[in-house]
Amino acid sequence: MQTLVVATKNAHKTQEIRAVLAGRFEVHDLCAHPEIPAPEETGKTFSENAVLKALAASIHFPGWILADDSGLSVDALHGAPGVFSARYAGANATDAENRAHLLRELTPFPEPAQRRARFHCVLALARAGEVRGIFPGTVEGVLLGVEQGEEGFGYDPLFVPDGYSESFGILPAEVKNVISHRARALAAFQQWVGVQQFLE
Ligand code: IMP
Repeated sequence: MQTLVVATKNAHKTQEIRAVLAGRFEVHDLCAHPEIPAPEETGKTFSENAVLKALAASIHFPGWILADDSGLSVDALHGAPGVFSARYAGANATDAENRAHLLRELTPFPEPAQRRARFHCVLALARAGEVRGIFPGTVEGVLLGVEQGEEGFGYDPLFVPDGYSESFGILPAEVKNVISHRARALAAFQQWVGVQQFLE
């Protein structure tokens, strides 16, 4: 089976990517490589940051690298937290601190219609220091006023995807891994793989 290194130390992202690509790719990540530093995410877009991460990892690994940059964009907050999603409440903020910060920022917007948001994911594929593909995915939804459930990670307990009445904190991984921003970006990646008939 083809090996793919996901340029992340976020075990939740790896778990989702591994589940979606199961049977097709053997997925590794950087969790077992503390010596490899994460690049500074200086990009203004998810795409720029995904490329930064893919190219940085590609220095250390000879094979195919897939990097994920993702985050939440809230209409009422003019797109925030966006590329700052992982550090919304500060440089080393936990997911719980970021969610609490988001809920505070949303206090002036109590109605569901005022709480429209979407998750973005951009995957960048690289090999030997070259970007070979960019694959975006989004999922639209609405943000809750209180956390619901403990599944997933990040902002999942606050986000109800359109067409569902429960948050990603309640919905099982089998559902999230079909409809999420990451699942959609991975579908675009897999379609590209099919077209290229690669990856030797
Ligand atoms: P990154 O590691 O710079 O891409 O930051 C991603 C951040 O966006 C995470 O730390 C989460 O806060 C948020 N995020 C991305 N994807 C998801 C998801 O699938 N569920 C919940 N939060 C997510």
